[in-house]
Amino acid sequence: MSVIYTRVALIGLGLIAGSMAHAMRRAGLAGEITGYARSADTRAVAREIGLCDRITDTVAEAVAGADLVVLCVPVGAMGAVAEEIAPHLAPGATVTDVGSVKRDVITQVGPHIPAGVHFVPGHPLAGTEHSGPRSGFAELFDNRYVLLTPEPGTDADAIARLRALWEGCGAKVEEMDADHHDLVLAVTSHTPHLIAYTMVGVADDLRRVTDSEVIKYSAAGFRDFTRIAASDPTMWRDVFLTNKDATLEILGRFTEELFALQRAIRTGDGDHLHAYFTRTRAIRRGIIEAGQDTDAPDFGRVQRKRETPAT
Ligand code: NAP
Repeated sequence: MSVIYTRVALIGLGLIAGSMAHAMRRAGLAGEITGYARSADTRAVAREIGLCDRITDTVAEAVAGADLVVLCVPVGAMGAVAEEIAPHLAPGATVTDVGSVKRDVITQVGPHIPAGVHFVPGHPLAGTEHSGPRSGFAELFDNRYVLLTPEPGTDADAIARLRALWEGCGAKVEEMDADHHDLVLAVTSHTPHLIAYTMVGVADDLRRVTDSEVIKYSAAGFRDFTRIAASDPTMWRDVFLTNKDATLEILGRFTEELFALQRAIRTGDGDHLHAYFTRTRAIRRGIIEAGQDTDAPDFGRVQRKRETPAT
């Protein structure tokens, strides 16, 4: 693989930025990788582990001369960071981001992008419940999707180059409208996370009564919930605050279905329950047939320990 960008600046040095640095190095995609994080502690760790070629103490130094700048901070911080980097962006550079919500990021970041600089928002559907500069690894994006959500009229070459970078990092790349992205992710990731948070909260209340039986006897389903519910609180607070409409829409539908199942249980309507579970089982089969998961027992847990659902 050959160099795609001469200098890539990573702003925010956590799981996603770290994994990008490792993946870009693995394939030799960047001439130089610079990095900046707001806290001195994070910068010190990044230097200690050699995360980038250069860790700078100011955002201006990181961005200077970069032909790609990647915003890797929580969604709620994207606008402020974009404002900070704007005066230092090189003409012709591309700015992208990795935020889990797209319309809000476009609204926050778009107005700060100077003329002559391209903005191509993106979202890698890959993650773990770990965060910080030590948590990244080169394989995170292998065979995972990256969704790019450029606004109509965005420079085609800038999009093609970013696509090539992500493909070089091992990912499959697709383009999508930002609003559609937010609705899809509300269904596949954001609402499921909220349900996991709720379930773990409920179990925590119960644990006080049953003296840790919930943990002792937790089967795979609940263990998966606890792993998801261990995800970064700042990141997930921002996801729900910025993907409000789509999440509330899906949560509304979820609640209606839950009430219907609750009523079926109360009234002993086995036909309703059986028909519902038959439909959901068919959905699972469809996911396996589409190659999006394995049919190994226990979701292939042994082989795929580091992965979590896309965020
Ligand atoms: P992370 O490991 O927690 O790292 C976040 C980085 O952002 C840190 O370097 C932190 O700096 C910086 N940061 C936090 N708040 C900030 C603020 N207010 N202003 C400036 N910088 C700030 O996060 P991550 O998991 O890599 O997530 C980064 C982005 O990727 C988020 O937008 C998230 O939605 C998206 N994403 C995450 C996942 C996932 O599973 N984790 C998956 C796909 C996309 P300090 O260390 O100096 O505090």
